[in-house]
Amino acid sequence: MIPTNRQPRSGAFGRPRPISDGSSGTDENLRRQIRARLLEARLPAVNGVARSHRGSGRPCIVCRRAIEPTEVERQVGGFGVLLFAHEVCYKLWREESVAHRTAVVREATSGEADGSIP
Ligand SMILES: [Zn+2]
Repeated sequence: MIPTNRQPRSGAFGRPRPISDGSSGTDENLRRQIRARLLEARLPAVNGVARSHRGSGRPCIVCRRAIEPTEVERQVGGFGVLLFAHEVCYKLWREESVAHRTAVVREATSGEADGSIP
């Protein structure tokens, strides 16, 4: 029998932690980091223009890990520079970008509910 170290999961809310070890990065974790970086404008919101090709060892803008040749790399343009991300990271990034933009729009037009659907 192996004694397990149980740790109570309390206060795990809104604690940004630096991406360093990269061993415990779940989707939800990464998603939260993307959201935080979008809010702080440290990551631009993607707008759908992305080419995919084989990884070339460049670091991923989202998780900062190298994109290996065995993985799919997404090349995102439109920001004056080219950004590279893993296929998986890109998907999360795009989803969060859409959510981010929607949130911004909702904030700008707060209270003004336009219920008309064309
Ligand atoms: Zn990545």
